[in-house]
Amino acid sequence: MASAHLLRFFRYFIVVFSIVIFHCAPNPRYYSGSAKSYPTKTSTTSEFVSPVNGMSPSRISSGWGDRREGGRMHKAIDITGSEGEQIFAIADGIITFSGRKKDYGNVVEIDHKNGFTSLFAHNQKNLVQKGQKVKSGEPIAKMGNTGKSTGVHLHLEIKKDGEFVNPEKYLR
Ligand SMILES: [Zn+2]
Repeated sequence: MASAHLLRFFRYFIVVFSIVIFHCAPNPRYYSGSAKSYPTKTSTTSEFVSPVNGMSPSRISSGWGDRREGGRMHKAIDITGSEGEQIFAIADGIITFSGRKKDYGNVVEIDHKNGFTSLFAHNQKNLVQKGQKVKSGEPIAKMGNTGKSTGVHLHLEIKKDGEFVNPEKYLR
């Protein structure tokens, strides 16, 4: 009797333990799926969700540090895609700019309130307004070819404490 009871308790313990382990297991992020399937709370970490659906390394047409005309360094990554494709907020934040800038074309800037800011350029259309709060994975723009751009793509910049950082380091 006593051992049966103990066995039942033990089984219960195993079930609870597996549930805890399952929920603590790292989520597959970035290259493996849709932006919507990623964890939504990122405000306390430097982990961001993918800005596009179906992200893969082969979609990066221009990486961090590529030289540009006049020897300028590309402090961003360019992600190829199709005209009108959805672009998502990479983390919770507040829109600090949504409008047009000369070379950037239609551009959205987000302050993530943890030292990080992100910028999305060459958009066909912006879907957010300055001052608006956005959630991680929320659509903020549609991909396009506006401004100084030679094809449909997303130009993504990330800054940490005001300094440019390689987005690929954070979008893992
Ligand atoms: Zn670029």
